[in-house]
Amino acid sequence: MRRPAGIRWVENGSLLVFMVLTGWHIWGLEARLEWAAAAALVAGYLAADLVSGLVHWFSDTYFEERTPVIGRLLIQPFREHHRDPAGITRHGAAELTGNSALALLPVMLWGPPESGVLGVWILSFALSLMATNVIHRWAHAGEVNGVVRALQRARLILPPEHHARHHAGDHRSAYCITSGWCDWLLDRVLRRG
Ligand SMILES: [Zn+2]
Ligand SMILES: [Zn+2]
Repeated sequence: MRRPAGIRWVENGSLLVFMVLTGWHIWGLEARLEWAAAAALVAGYLAADLVSGLVHWFSDTYFEERTPVIGRLLIQPFREHHRDPAGITRHGAAELTGNSALALLPVMLWGPPESGVLGVWILSFALSLMATNVIHRWAHAGEVNGVVRALQRARLILPPEHHARHHAGDHRSAYCITSGWCDWLLDRVLRRG
């Protein structure tokens, strides 16, 4: 069942604003770490894209949907997505981010918020991975709001044209689903395997 576009717009917009506000908070709290904090934010976002690609590649390549524990939690969502790429646009927030939240719990507990630059990196990495399936969903949505489209065009988040490469072929390239920035690296490294 398709939910009203207005509600989805509010969800998507809220998420985006939340991320901007998070960055603003970090900026304010760690004023003396400004440049280091900015670098940690970018590094966290970059690392999330790399991890999204590695987890996606692993899930597309190894094990089966019937494998105990990880089959249902990890393998099945990725395989299901190949059979029905548009299905992701019908997933609710919990379905989109629940698995990520579960996997990120140890990461969030790894460094306390007051651990300076490391804390900023952890927060950026975790929030970026939480946003990954939402960004992935936007790449499959026929219509997105203007802000999201602008971010896609600027290649700051996964552009639909870039991600289409994964679905167009044999699902053996363009695994990264946060920004797609790390695909130039993963496509070279993983193709050899
Ligand atoms: Zn996809
Ligand atoms: Zn895939």
